Amino acid sequence: DVILKADDIVKHYPIKGGILRTTTGHVKAVDGVSFELHRGETLGIVGESGCGKSTLGRVLMRLEEPTSGTVNFDGVEMYAQSGSAMRKLRRDIQIVFQDPYTSLNPRKTVGDIIGEPFDIHPDVVPKGGRKQAVKDLLDMVGLNPEHINRYPHQFSGGQRQRIGIARGIALKPKVLICDEPVSALDVSVQAQVINLMEKLQDELGLSYIFIAHDLSVVRHISDRVGVMYLGRMVELGTEAEIYQRP
Ligand code: ADP
Ligand code: ADP
Repeated sequence: DVILKADDIVKHYPIKGGILRTTTGHVKAVDGVSFELHRGETLGIVGESGCGKSTLGRVLMRLEEPTSGTVNFDGVEMYAQSGSAMRKLRRDIQIVFQDPYTSLNPRKTVGDIIGEPFDIHPDVVPKGGRKQAVKDLLDMVGLNPEHINRYPHQFSGGQRQRIGIARGIALKPKVLICDEPVSALDVSVQAQVINLMEKLQDELGLSYIFIAHDLSVVRHISDRVGVMYLGRMVELGTEAEIYQRP
């Protein structure tokens, strides 16, 4: 059962100092990537810095148009959708960013940050139920619901990433794209956040795309791993298939 299918995704950028330069003056950030994500699966995407992981992640949820290629999400051609249809589709495919220090608005309370998706999709929560819905989310990610009026700087790095995750799951999406969600955290905190993500996957039936530069971060959580190199997905399979081949 396939929830997301990427077909021959290509994304070029005008040259700004990338490693792989072509004679026509652009960086091939993503250079023909195809794969399928199965429902309930965690697909790890690993590769060194600059190989195109984040660009692919952004294209998969239409934060950025690809140069060519298609994304089919839950049976729907994502890039054939109008803006309003896409906004509806976004409910089901969300993203969590790497850096909990910069991706949370410092002037907003955590209540307003986590409640943002409800402002865009008001029908998701019953009238007057927004505050309780946010408190429930805080509780789900292991934060104190009474801290709803605090600001991001009043939380540790790991706690801030929990806030980012709470926002990401607020609409109960089908797919969560996690772009290096623990890379900025201490190793001990990384494990806690990954455990949380596994718990949430079980509770919500999420499918994950889990981007990391380091295999060690994703090996335990991933059902399959895709290895990217210079914009291409050069390997895709279970960890055993990829790394323990004779
Ligand atoms: P990764 O996430 O694996 O570190 P990225 O997707 O961020 O890789 O970047 C892939 C390549 O595309 C790099 O060469 C990077 O410099 C280039 N790139 C990424 N985003 C942009 C952009 N907005 N404009 C120009 N080049 C970009
Ligand atoms: P900008 O703030 O310049 O628009 P962003 O990358 O923050 O750039 O957001 C780009 C688009 O993605 C916006 O339409 C925003 O609403 C949406 N967006 C940002 N964060 C998320 C998220 N966690 N889940 C889904 N959509 C998001």
